[in-house]
Amino acid sequence: MQVEVSRRRFLQGSVAMSVIGGSSVGVTNLLANNNEEKGEFSPTTKTGTGEATEVATLCEMCVNKCAAIARVENGIVTKLNPNPLFPKSKNMLCPRGNAGIQALYDPDRLKYPMIRVGKKGEGKFKRVSWDEAYKAIWNGTEHFIGMKQILEEEKDNRSSFLFCAGEGMAEHTFKSFYSAFGSSNWLNHASLCLQTVISGYGVTLGGYPSADLDNAEYIIMAGANRAEAIVTPDTMDIFKRTKGRGAKLICVDPRFTNTASKADKWLAINPGTDLAFVLALTYVVINEELYNKDYVAKNVNGFDKYKVNIIENKYTPEWAEKITGIKAKDIYQIARDFMAHAPKAVYYPGRRSTFSDSDFQLRRAMAIFQGLSGGIDTKGGLVFGKRLRLSQHEGVQPLYERAQSRAVNKIERRKGQVGYADCAVVSGGGSWIAWRNRFLENKMPYKVRGMFIYKHNPMMNMPNTAKTAEMFKKLELVVAIDTMPSDSVMYSDVVLPECTYLERTDPVKTFGGVEPSIAQRNKVIDPMYETKPVMEIMRGLTSLIAKPLFDITKKYDEDVKEEIEDSDEEDVFEEFDIRKPFEHSQEKVNEYMVKDIYGEEAVKSLKEKGVFYPNMDKYFKQISVNEHQYYPENKKYYSVNDGKPKTNSEKVECYLPNLAKKCVDPMPMWYDEYEFKVPVGKFRLLTGRHAQFTQSGTANNMMLRDLMSENYLWINRRVANDKGIKFGDMIEVSSRTGKTRLKAYPTEKIAPNQLFFIHGFGEESEGLSWAYRSGGNDNAVIEDVIEPVYGAASMHETNVEIRKV
Ligand code: SF4
Repeated sequence: MQVEVSRRRFLQGSVAMSVIGGSSVGVTNLLANNNEEKGEFSPTTKTGTGEATEVATLCEMCVNKCAAIARVENGIVTKLNPNPLFPKSKNMLCPRGNAGIQALYDPDRLKYPMIRVGKKGEGKFKRVSWDEAYKAIWNGTEHFIGMKQILEEEKDNRSSFLFCAGEGMAEHTFKSFYSAFGSSNWLNHASLCLQTVISGYGVTLGGYPSADLDNAEYIIMAGANRAEAIVTPDTMDIFKRTKGRGAKLICVDPRFTNTASKADKWLAINPGTDLAFVLALTYVVINEELYNKDYVAKNVNGFDKYKVNIIENKYTPEWAEKITGIKAKDIYQIARDFMAHAPKAVYYPGRRSTFSDSDFQLRRAMAIFQGLSGGIDTKGGLVFGKRLRLSQHEGVQPLYERAQSRAVNKIERRKGQVGYADCAVVSGGGSWIAWRNRFLENKMPYKVRGMFIYKHNPMMNMPNTAKTAEMFKKLELVVAIDTMPSDSVMYSDVVLPECTYLERTDPVKTFGGVEPSIAQRNKVIDPMYETKPVMEIMRGLTSLIAKPLFDITKKYDEDVKEEIEDSDEEDVFEEFDIRKPFEHSQEKVNEYMVKDIYGEEAVKSLKEKGVFYPNMDKYFKQISVNEHQYYPENKKYYSVNDGKPKTNSEKVECYLPNLAKKCVDPMPMWYDEYEFKVPVGKFRLLTGRHAQFTQSGTANNMMLRDLMSENYLWINRRVANDKGIKFGDMIEVSSRTGKTRLKAYPTEKIAPNQLFFIHGFGEESEGLSWAYRSGGNDNAVIEDVIEPVYGAASMHETNVEIRKV
């Protein structure tokens, strides 16, 4: 790799940027013409000539957290290599992992704290010091009101602030602030992502299992596009080891994807009808008595009721063929083959977003189908594995008398049964679109006026971008902590720049599985510019606001008033001291979380090697060039519960009366309303991911954009011909929600009434030099359809029109 960069030059770059527009910094086009001055990569200077040190860290370019070794020369990170010691990533770093270096050296990075001086969303900010930023949060400015005024006016209702975060290892640190602050309003990415799969498997099997692809002989992969959407070590396993030793792969996907091209069989399913497919598979195994009778008798609850449901409703393959478009004979064959290979057969759970309104019941049906095979908690099937324990880092969770409970609306869903207005169940991560829409429609049970947002970009990640922009405009104080000037950052009032993952140590984390381990992200270089890790950001902010916050509580909280009368005020403040979770450095906290249980040796291993598990030194061996042993075969945790699921009953739950109490079907069933109609002249919009991009988070990464600079609209070639659309023509895609534009990719790999494009493109933030208006934004057109059980966003329930422009 060749890098033209020096720390001094980066600093020069940051100074140059600070004077754009005098005291006010336009985030617009922070990149000047002289790229060398800005410390960008350049092809002219070679690295690899200086003294190098190596630091063990963890990738944060996607959720997988592969282990990496960073090579550092003269304070510059010049290369990221895979760390062979981590069982989860098996000596692999994907293209995004390699491009993590660009996340560090992206010239568009947020470099110093800023406060808004223009209109919301206009992107006009003023550079300030950290102290000034913290004071602006508390006191407000002439452009926005502060936390103090909001809490005074809302009489210490802490829930007048919403907290939201994207996935990441430091999310926990940010969440400690939320807990200590005392709000009840928390939203994370789950309802825009994998909420229904986690919940569906959670209630049916007691947890979200992994698939033991190292030993499976037969795999059904439906809606999980591993070869194209996310290339992690599991993906390599599927296509190298699993397929390599002759395992069968059945791909079920509306599009002919890269995964489909590698499969033994591709079934082009009508989008959103997977539940009918699984019910029909289940029909075959029950009707032909192919299920594992012994396992079902011992480990499945409610089987008789489920059997009646499946047989009496006649969920036959012939019935499913009309709905799914998959031939009945294929369904018979797959059901029989799956059971013939059981328990070494896997219906792959996948991690994808919610696509249709039946997704929760689909996941239940998949989990039950797997249960009928007996392939649970066993080699070659679905496995739970083991998780190594860590000591808990104490936070504070004071009780504020005035803090209202979560801002949801309750209604009578059925006579005498009170539930929620938007969906049946509200999980810890909440329902993002339901929350936003309630807020915009003034249907909140009380006023929510402020928001803290960490590493999260709802402007790009939530259906109906126009509504999300309205939400941001209506919020009176938005504080964003991020590394990049994302579209959501542009709508913020105070911007607190976090350093990137290569510049910080994050909370130590335990990774469960068949080969469990603990891993630690160690700081590779000091934070650049004026950026800080979220731990330090929280330390700075809470030092300023802890006492003043307590002064407000003292005024309005009758319990606190009484306590103060009875005891010393300082003692009462102790319980409310929100500085506490941030007192120590992350390194110290990590040490504490590991040392008592595993000793000094574990602390040392995590610092030096980034990974620890008991007996690692004894077990770890290199077997061939790129193959390692982490645990000897007889020490792996294939069966931790004697083949039983992890539900309280230790049985697969086919029938759940508790769901019925919430007006949700107690077992998976099909309804005609699940069938989605596409009117003539319109298309069903499908969206998905690409292995080189992680949602919108990597959109500005120019190393990755070199591989694919924009997304393209997949359109059936014959339809494109009829419409005179050629490759590269600019197309406007529109729905009732909005419009977006991107170039056409006519192909036979998609059905005539469907369109597809990859999520994460089409940013509107002018602070993102490369991502700005490059490609189309799916969420500008996806309608806000709320999945009825957990309130997830149903991403494939939108019809669109197209126009060549
Ligand atoms: S799969 Fe790639 S992006 Fe994700 S953590 Fe691993 S190396 Fe990083």
